[in-house]
Amino acid sequence: MAAWLEGRIVERTVWTDTHFSLRISCERPDFVAGQFIRVALDVDGERIARPYSCVNSPDTDGFEIFFNIVPTGPLSGPLSTLQVGDTLWVSDRCNGLLTLQEIPATARDLWMVATGTGVGPFLSMLRTTKIWQRFDQIILAYGVREAPQLAYSAVIDQLCQQHSGLHFIPCVTQQAPDYAYPGRITQALADGQLEARAGITISTDSHFMLCGNTAMIREMTEALKQRGLKKHLRREPGHISSEKYH
Ligand SMILES: Cc1cc2nc3c(=O)[nH]c(=O)nc-3n(C[C@H](O)[C@H](O)[C@H](O)COP(=O)(O)OP(=O)(O)OC[C@H]3O[C@@H](n4cnc5c(N)ncnc54)[C@H](O)[C@@H]3O)c2cc1C
Repeated sequence: MAAWLEGRIVERTVWTDTHFSLRISCERPDFVAGQFIRVALDVDGERIARPYSCVNSPDTDGFEIFFNIVPTGPLSGPLSTLQVGDTLWVSDRCNGLLTLQEIPATARDLWMVATGTGVGPFLSMLRTTKIWQRFDQIILAYGVREAPQLAYSAVIDQLCQQHSGLHFIPCVTQQAPDYAYPGRITQALADGQLEARAGITISTDSHFMLCGNTAMIREMTEALKQRGLKKHLRREPGHISSEKYH
């Protein structure tokens, strides 16, 4: 069973009134980019724990998490009120298979598809050097409802400047600014804009990593199957890996 370690908030970022990042200092277990840690708070005498993806690179100190408030949920609201200096619990191990190691060696281009806070594990991977030794072309499609929810845009812009092989496709469903695709990522795939904006054609040499809400993962998986791609399993290599947040 996992033990709990005490962590302390060393940085708090408020992206919108519902979206936050916390940087946590703690005695840290190792993790692989793409994995998640469990975070807990004692609420009314009960320890409430939930998984959160690590957003930072494994070679930096501590953990960074990015989350939104779920009004009906017991943890995300209290988590959002924590301030620098406050403490919380983190698990002594990290888990998760949405990692570069799990991608078949035959994959040539990597498509990272995120809704909302699902961008977290991709930021961790993009912040490592390993990923750039492995892939020449990486596409990050990041879907949100409103443009201010495109957290970490400055980090992504900087990564795009450093790596010409990174193609960033923001997708915004409400009042999209000019630089974003106006709609869902699944629409952008269906109308050809995802490939047009990336300048890359999807093929069985592509690998897709999907992270975020269940509906996006289900619809993307179905649409990609129509294009000849299949789910990736350890025992049966394929082209689509995913992690559902909710
Ligand atoms: C492997 C894994 C990694 C995760 N990583 C992250 C992360 O990096 N960032 C993050 O924000 N969340 C992440 N989540 C979701 C997170 O663990 C919590 O469920 C979420 O923060 C809500 O917690 P809660 O206790 O307030 O509500 P919960 O009791 O967990 O959930 C209440 C309801 O809200 C739904 N829900 C959960 N998350 C969301 C959401 N983001 N938006 C809308 N509805 C939601 C649940 O399905 C449930 O119906 C992850 C989940 C999994 C399984």
